[in-house]
Amino acid sequence: MENIKKVVTLVYGCQMSERDAETLTEITRGFGYTPSDDLETADLVIVNTCCVRESAENKILGKIGELKKLKERNSHVKIAITGCMVQQPGALDRLTKRAPHVDIWAGTHNLHDFSALLHRVEQGGKVAEVWQVPKATLEVIPLAVKGKLQANVNIMYGCNNFCSYCIVPHVRGRERSRKPEEILQEIEGLVQSGCREVTLLGQNVNSYGKEFSPAYDFADLLHQVDQIKGLLRIRFITSHPKDLSDKLIRTVAEGEKLCEHFHLPIQSGSNQILERMNRKYTREYYLSRVQKIHELIPNASITTDIIVGFPGESEEDFEQTLAMMKEAHYSQAFTFMYSKRSGTLAAKMEDQIPLDLKKRRLQKLMSVQNLESLEWRQNMIGKRFEVLVEGPSKTNPTRLTGRTRGNELVVFKANLDTIGTLLTVKIKEAGSWTVVGEVEGF
Ligand code: SAM
Ligand code: SF4
Repeated sequence: MENIKKVVTLVYGCQMSERDAETLTEITRGFGYTPSDDLETADLVIVNTCCVRESAENKILGKIGELKKLKERNSHVKIAITGCMVQQPGALDRLTKRAPHVDIWAGTHNLHDFSALLHRVEQGGKVAEVWQVPKATLEVIPLAVKGKLQANVNIMYGCNNFCSYCIVPHVRGRERSRKPEEILQEIEGLVQSGCREVTLLGQNVNSYGKEFSPAYDFADLLHQVDQIKGLLRIRFITSHPKDLSDKLIRTVAEGEKLCEHFHLPIQSGSNQILERMNRKYTREYYLSRVQKIHELIPNASITTDIIVGFPGESEEDFEQTLAMMKEAHYSQAFTFMYSKRSGTLAAKMEDQIPLDLKKRRLQKLMSVQNLESLEWRQNMIGKRFEVLVEGPSKTNPTRLTGRTRGNELVVFKANLDTIGTLLTVKIKEAGSWTVVGEVEGF
């Protein structure tokens, strides 16, 4: 019987990390590997890592420990640890000492050269390589996985913003935009293989193309992607509030497939904290952007990221964050406790907030946002929404799930052959995270 080699890819972190993991899996196909979920029968395990918060790193270290036991049971399995955690300055030394059972170590900048590393390991031996700077030409490995309804598409890499708490610019390098024609070609290929929704990815999509001459910006790119036939929906993340232009909001308002959803991280509602975070906007400017979105797109949905317990955050600063949640009417918020990241400016700041206070603030913030999210969804009751049908619900397989253009999750009953199509769903019930709807005539 032919021996089929299996690769299991585990991913931690954001959509960029997911997209990188897809690239790695795609590279292994060239070596005869088939993707699998079963660790026990795997020939290669790839762990693509995240280091944005300490909690993610701790989980990954736990997983690397478990993989040591897997290797004791199954000595031929190869283990690759890749991505942001490995790219951190000084991390490779620490990690290789801690986990000698790992066969391949690779940072974010040399992921796209993974085939060279895998080739060396297939010959026997171990490799550890972390490039200090990226080589842009190697970064694009298009994917066209058959039948995949949704796909993430990188439009740019890196970040120039250096928010004082954030490790991302330290592990993903400076901002660089992909050429529009490459992006359009990749999306056309995805559509031909069945993809109906793309999410354009960048740490700050609003600064896409800043280096281009003649001028060509993110709104121009969105406009061109909107013309691609066969594509049903376009999403994008993340929008830095300081660079959100009127032109971009207008483009979304006028676009056909451009979903009316802005992920606009506020991080804190206090000007004092925003300044210490190096976010380069005030709460007043942020609210003026929210107002502009609602003026041009009255039904737009806005989501956000918030950090509590940033160094020096007083009770009053925190109250301003709570007030912001009510003023901005977010449909959803991703809330985090500040996590000290070595090498960032904030890690050296005085007045670090004790863990129990961070926990209390996070609980309070989550309870305020849960009510806001519930109110947002209760307002959907009785209205009709366009939903892209994604597949059976994970919690109730007799129902299907999909998302509105505003990215709200909807559960409903419909035929399985509607998967991949747009349906109109009337909302009947609402919770903080999902709404339940009905397809007329079903
Ligand atoms: N580029 C995006 C932006 O500007 O919003 C997000 C990148 S980051 C991977 C996602 C979120 O993680 C951030 O918006 C922030 O709220 C959170 N985050 C980043 N560093 C953090 C830290 N040190 N502690 C807690 N949360 C953090
Ligand atoms: Fe991190 Fe700020 Fe860049 Fe987002 S914009 S990746 S939060 S430094």
